[in-house]
Amino acid sequence: MQKGEFLYEGKAKKIFRTSEPGLLLVEYKDDATAFDGRKKGTIVGKGAVNNQVSAHLFQLLEQHGIPTHFVELRGDREMLVRRARVFALEVVVRNIAAGSLSKRLGLAEGLVLPAPVVETYYKNDALHDPLINDDHIRVLNLATPDEVQAMRTMALRVNEILVAYLSNRKIRLVDFKLEFGISQDEGRLLLVDEVSPDTCRLWDQDTGEKLDKDRFRRDLGGVEEAYAEILRRLIG
Ligand code: 5GP
Repeated sequence: MQKGEFLYEGKAKKIFRTSEPGLLLVEYKDDATAFDGRKKGTIVGKGAVNNQVSAHLFQLLEQHGIPTHFVELRGDREMLVRRARVFALEVVVRNIAAGSLSKRLGLAEGLVLPAPVVETYYKNDALHDPLINDDHIRVLNLATPDEVQAMRTMALRVNEILVAYLSNRKIRLVDFKLEFGISQDEGRLLLVDEVSPDTCRLWDQDTGEKLDKDRFRRDLGGVEEAYAEILRRLIG
């Protein structure tokens, strides 16, 4: 398997072709952005942590029957993934009020929600990733109603698996963002992108300490230490 031509660069990752047409190489970067790219910085070691945490959680999810794009780790910062047609959607699942939900609905941060809340956002930088509903998704032709339903069902199952797994490691899963795609080879729904402290809110179960990207977003300090702590609790 040879690393091939550079394809594109996102805020946190670079994507390369490989000698296998159905596989891509993802390189996780230390670059961090927040607030629509208005805040920029570096979190030393983040790329390696997010690569390893994502690999670990993708494997856990696969063991529980969730198809993901993950194939294998390639060193500290790189993973091999299946190529997919990625939906221009972000699916957010929330167990506890925080972030934009607290702001939008006036709910106190930390309020335990009576049942998980699933939201969809349109991935569009120019529009600042707006919250959209099923009718908007249909108008924009972003996914079929069946695909939306399948993503919602899969996201809720991912939530159940991750809540149980993380609570055994003294971590509360507050909320997280998932992305989905359709695999190029088999045409099936796959979980893609990453599952990491960049894309999840993770709070220490006993102290409530934030162990995720909110430390960077809100200038709380101890960012690198929080990422390292998540890696330690998951992988040891
Ligand atoms: P909120 O809507 O409260 O800002 O985010 C909800 C959850 O989804 C948080 O765990 C947050 O990290 C994640 N999330 C939502 N949108 C993005 C995004 O564009 N990038 C990243 N890294 N995470 C996101």
